[in-house]
Amino acid sequence: MARTAYWMQCGGCGGDSIALLNLQSPDLLEVLRALDLELLYHPSLSTVGPREHDALVRAIVSGERALDVLCVEGAIVRGPGGTGMFDVSRGRPRKDLVSALAQQARWVVAVGTCAAYGGISGASVVEATGLQFHQRTRGGFLGEGFVAKSGAPVINLPGCPVQPETVAAALGAIVAGDALELDEHQAPVSLYGLRVHQGCTRNEYHEYRVEERGFGERGCLFFHMGCEGPMTRGACNRVLWNQRSSKTRVGVPCFGCTRPEFPRPTPFFETPNIEGLPLELPDGINRPHYLAYKTMAAAAAPLRLRKRTSGV
Ligand code: SF4
Repeated sequence: MARTAYWMQCGGCGGDSIALLNLQSPDLLEVLRALDLELLYHPSLSTVGPREHDALVRAIVSGERALDVLCVEGAIVRGPGGTGMFDVSRGRPRKDLVSALAQQARWVVAVGTCAAYGGISGASVVEATGLQFHQRTRGGFLGEGFVAKSGAPVINLPGCPVQPETVAAALGAIVAGDALELDEHQAPVSLYGLRVHQGCTRNEYHEYRVEERGFGERGCLFFHMGCEGPMTRGACNRVLWNQRSSKTRVGVPCFGCTRPEFPRPTPFFETPNIEGLPLELPDGINRPHYLAYKTMAAAAAPLRLRKRTSGV
């Protein structure tokens, strides 16, 4: 029997849906077909009218219609004053619909950083939060103890937007019944186990601390230009956007959009640093040792890197 999915858009920009539509080889329809996954509703793709939609929701909430996967995109808006009336569906707070559907779903998937951790919406005045986290703090909208009918907590797929291949892979694993191992922020380890830094074409420049202070050059963007690649979990340099590129490949720093605390409060294109050494270093690094290593590495940098003649 086909599995079913329902997609909600809450407090966000809809970018995860737009990214999903860019899925290629296979595309979204091919993926749904291959997984035998029936998309019961998607606010941008479905053609059902409001009454049909109401009937569908009633059937799911009453248990008459089985719901396997609830995908939530965007943060859950609770304002003003906890009423949720800043984000309504048919005159009622959308947060109530999230709550009702989450109780019935076998799996709940947070699609994008807003749904997972609050993201940009969570940093605004609408009292928005993630499904089961508010930034790094457990709880969020559904509460720390929430588990879906399968027994799994919310599966977080952060990204601003999340890569469509990540959504397809997660849905594939869920439908296949594979147990997804989750990290401490409930993102699947198999999809978020690498850092964006791994696979970056500027790695050799990073190694020798050949760094940039302006756009358009080939060196590393970590020390001055705001790159969070070494601290950010995600597949951006392993699974390329539109099968061809990534931020760092086109000279834009990684903004750390999969991190629970995204967006950071400091400017995206600047690295807070002291004497060129970033204030934030990857976990577990000994600062004095790192400084000594990078100073020696910079002195040993090959001429071709210093001249920016190779590597990208
Ligand atoms: S540009 Fe960013 S991701 Fe690339 S090597 Fe430098 S720090 Fe790593």
